[in-house]
Amino acid sequence: MEIIRIPRILQDVAITHRMHGRKVGFVATMGALHEGHLSLVKMCREESDVAVVSIYVNPAQFGPSEDLAQYPRTLEEDREKLKKENVDILFLPDDSLMYPEGFSTCVEVGGLSGKLCGAFRPGHFRGVATVVAKLFQIVSPVRAYFGQKDYQQALIIRRLVKDLNMAVEVVVCPTVREADGLAMSSRNRYLGKEERQAATVIFQTLTKGSEAVRSGILKIDALEEEMCGMLRAEPLVSEIQYCSAYDPETLDEIGETSDTILLAVALKIGGTRLIDNMLVRRGAEK
Ligand code: AMP
Repeated sequence: MEIIRIPRILQDVAITHRMHGRKVGFVATMGALHEGHLSLVKMCREESDVAVVSIYVNPAQFGPSEDLAQYPRTLEEDREKLKKENVDILFLPDDSLMYPEGFSTCVEVGGLSGKLCGAFRPGHFRGVATVVAKLFQIVSPVRAYFGQKDYQQALIIRRLVKDLNMAVEVVVCPTVREADGLAMSSRNRYLGKEERQAATVIFQTLTKGSEAVRSGILKIDALEEEMCGMLRAEPLVSEIQYCSAYDPETLDEIGETSDTILLAVALKIGGTRLIDNMLVRRGAEK
C-alpha cells in the first residue's frame, strides 16, 4: 500500500490511472476505522482497479465547541487494517496542504445543509462539502463510497456531484451495526460502559418506529411521540436533537401518504453525540 501525503502527487498519480482506463474507487474517512468503514473499503476494493482511501480529520467540519481535538486518532491500526484490505493508496494529507494560507473557497449545498444535523451543527456540511469536493478533485474517482449511517451527508454529496457536474458515481452502503444494533461509529469509543448500554435505545427506537410504519401506522405525530418517548425513558440520554419521520429526498417533515420514509435520530448521551437512521418502505425496511 502506497502512502501519499501531498495532494498534487496523488492528483498526478490518479489522473494517470484514469487516463490508462483504470477505475479509481475512493473512500473518504476521518480514521479510527471500524467495520463500518471497512465495509465501504471492501466494496471499493471489489469494484475498482485502484482503491484509494483517505484519512483526514477535517477541521472545517467541526464547530468551535466540538470534539476536533479529542477525535480518536489511531493511524497505526488504521494502516494495518487498510493493508489487509489490499488498499492501493492511503492518502494522508495534513491541514497545511489541504488549507494553505490564503485558502478562501467554500462549497455550500443550499437547503439540505441547514436541516436535521445542520440545524445543530452550523457550518458542518459546508466543511464536509468543501473537503469532499477537494478530495474528488485530488483523487479523480469513478466511484466514491459513503455510508448510509450519515444519511444526510450522503444526500448532500449526491446533490453536490449532480449540481457541479462531477464525474463521480456516489455509492451509498448500508449501515454496519454492533451485535446489539448500535450503529458503528468512531465516536462510540467516547461512551462509558453504562452509556454504551444506554446507546442501544437508538436502534430499539428506530426498530419500533419502522415496525409501526410497516404495520400501517402513519400518523406522524403519534409515531414521533412514541419514538421520542422511548428515548426520553432512557435516563442517560441527555439531549434529543431530532427524532422523527422525514422525506428521504428533501429531509422535510413527511406527509402522511409518502411511500418511503426516513426515520432519523440525533441525541446526546452524556457529552457524546450519536446519530442513526432507517429508511422504511411501506411493507419493507431498508
Ligand atoms: P467518518 O470517518 O465518520 O467520516 O466516516 C467515513 C465514511 O464511513 C462515511 O461515508 C460514513 O458514512 C461511513 N460510515 C461510518 N460509520 C459507518 C457504519 N456504521 N456503517 C457504514 N458506513 C459507515
